[in-house]
Amino acid sequence: MPTPRDLLNQAKASIREVDLPEAQTLLEAGRVTFLDVREPDEYEQGAIPGAVHLPRGHLEFQVEGKLPDKSVPVVVYCAGGVRSAFAAKTMGDLGYADVVSMAGGFNKWKDGGYPWAAPKTLTPAQRNRYQRHLLLPEVGETGQLTLLGSKVLLLGAGGLGSPAALYLAAAGVGTLGVIDMDVVDESNLQRQILHNMDRVGDRKVDSAKKTLTSLNPDVNVVTYDVRLGADNILDIIDGYDVIVDGTDNFPTRYLVNDASLLKRIPVVHGSIFRFEGQVTVFDPYNGPCYRCLIPEPPPAELAPSCAEAGVLGVLPGIVGSIQAVETIKVLLGLGDTLVGRLLAYDALEQSFRTFKVRRDPTCPACGPDAGEIVIAEYDELCMPHRH
Ligand SMILES: [Zn+2]
Repeated sequence: MPTPRDLLNQAKASIREVDLPEAQTLLEAGRVTFLDVREPDEYEQGAIPGAVHLPRGHLEFQVEGKLPDKSVPVVVYCAGGVRSAFAAKTMGDLGYADVVSMAGGFNKWKDGGYPWAAPKTLTPAQRNRYQRHLLLPEVGETGQLTLLGSKVLLLGAGGLGSPAALYLAAAGVGTLGVIDMDVVDESNLQRQILHNMDRVGDRKVDSAKKTLTSLNPDVNVVTYDVRLGADNILDIIDGYDVIVDGTDNFPTRYLVNDASLLKRIPVVHGSIFRFEGQVTVFDPYNGPCYRCLIPEPPPAELAPSCAEAGVLGVLPGIVGSIQAVETIKVLLGLGDTLVGRLLAYDALEQSFRTFKVRRDPTCPACGPDAGEIVIAEYDELCMPHRH
């Protein structure tokens, strides 16, 4: 009957160990996965930055889900180098091509002054709030932490911005910027569900912030009670991961397009008209931009704004919710986004159609000959400015 010591010696004889300096060299070189096989309470106190966490007891059944590519080199570590030696042997048996165990473990690593950090984890309250996300392997704790660390800017707290902001706040997007310069009017309440009768006369951004923070106190709502213009757009959008565009006029859409290209920020675009809505995603230089889709604005008499045209009250709820879905997909890298596709919804037909949209090689904003874009106020022709 072998003793535990015999088993450890057998395991160590069949694997390779690396010392701490060699492990650090591998960490700095990248292209290697560090696998932390300690228990959750040990991991939460501190871990090697970027390490994948999988307790030793779950290794056999979960490692292929966590580390699907068996050709990527792995450095396994635990607290002292024992559990990691057994884990490395098991992974070799499972077909992982290049697995080493870090001798000395995390305790020696930490004592030696090597880099470590307390990993971000969800609080018990967050685990409860987002449990339906955690049950989706495509989101999980990593995805929820990504959402909590994400910043999304909503252009407008109106018809489209209302449902988009509510669902993004509920989903736990950690920072929501809201830009709007209007006050709440009773005629908004037919569709702008961020606001209510008590807020009539209030600034829309203040009303939006109240509603969103009462829905989810995790969300930091940053308000911009200004008109979005050439003078401020680059400063405002800087640092956001995604822009949700719910604006209703052409000069602003072209301005947003050109500024987002310059800053390389994806834009989830939505528009509504009477009983119809459209959604698409503009991913700078990876798909068409707004100018590829609509090279020039229609004449003013053919392009009435919402205020003049009328819109079915529920319609922005559907379109803005699709914008929220696309935003979360972009943030988490999930599924097929609407990059390169325009989704058109017709409420009277009750139909959805998608149309392919391609990059325009002669696009004056994102085409190869477009040159450098200068952000400036647009006239009714909305052509991009040049140096
Ligand atoms: Zn373009």
